[in-house]
Amino acid sequence: MRIILLGPPGAGKGTQARILMEKYGVVQIAAGDLFRENIKAGTPLGKQVEAIIKEGRLVSDDITIRMIADRLDKPDCKNGFILDGFPRNVAQAEALEKMLHEKGIALDGVVQMAVNDEQLIDRISGRFTCSGCGEGYHDKFKKPAHADSCDKCGAKGKFTRRADDNAATVRTRLETYHSQTAPILPFYSARKMLKTVNGMADLADVTSQIEAVLAG
Ligand code: ADP
Ligand code: ADP
Ligand code: ZN
Repeated sequence: MRIILLGPPGAGKGTQARILMEKYGVVQIAAGDLFRENIKAGTPLGKQVEAIIKEGRLVSDDITIRMIADRLDKPDCKNGFILDGFPRNVAQAEALEKMLHEKGIALDGVVQMAVNDEQLIDRISGRFTCSGCGEGYHDKFKKPAHADSCDKCGAKGKFTRRADDNAATVRTRLETYHSQTAPILPFYSARKMLKTVNGMADLADVTSQIEAVLAG
């Protein structure tokens, strides 16, 4: 499985990527996660991107493309990968196309997860994550079985919320999605690679839809 999950912030890309990753033994490559790991570790890359991410703007293509190219070269990508949050504009989509062509890799498809803006705001404002294992949760839609402990890894008191998941930044991120990321839909549609699922459905249903569009 070699796919791109495409969709606005909060669409459920990370959630679905983690489900597919376990089911199919492929890796999730999430641009946002890679940036956040660098910020947390205080690397030069992290220092370069921290302010931009906090404002909800896109990191420069140079930095982002180089980071993804390096990631795709790691041996764990051999069995397949799920790109989550990359590409996010046409220049990145073009760079990825060139990169994959040079590596002799073909994508199985580009899956667009369609969710309306109102639902996105609900999803983002209720989102939290286990910093122990990365499992994602939601205040309303995906509560852990026990309030303060992770269903997946059992860690206690390790839930965190993202600094950029606040009302002001979310608005900027949605605008950025509509103005810069949505133009890559026709890019992939012209290449007959674009498949769309209804991201408003419940979690398991979305997974089945993704499997169905990739099989069909
Ligand atoms: P979400 O899951 O809410 O869409 P991400 O974790 O994918 O958020 O991204 C968080 C932030 O990281 C973005 O708002 C942006 O600042 C930066 N970012 C992520 N992916 C890219 C990318 N492909 N190009 C530029 N910036 C990116
Ligand atoms: P993205 O990676 O696209 O920004 P996430 O996967 O982090 O989005 O999902 C955003 C929030 O919405 C998370 O709190 C997640 O638990 C929740 N969520 C994801 N998919 C669904 C769904 N189909 N129905 C309800 N809530 C969902
Ligand atoms: Zn956990």
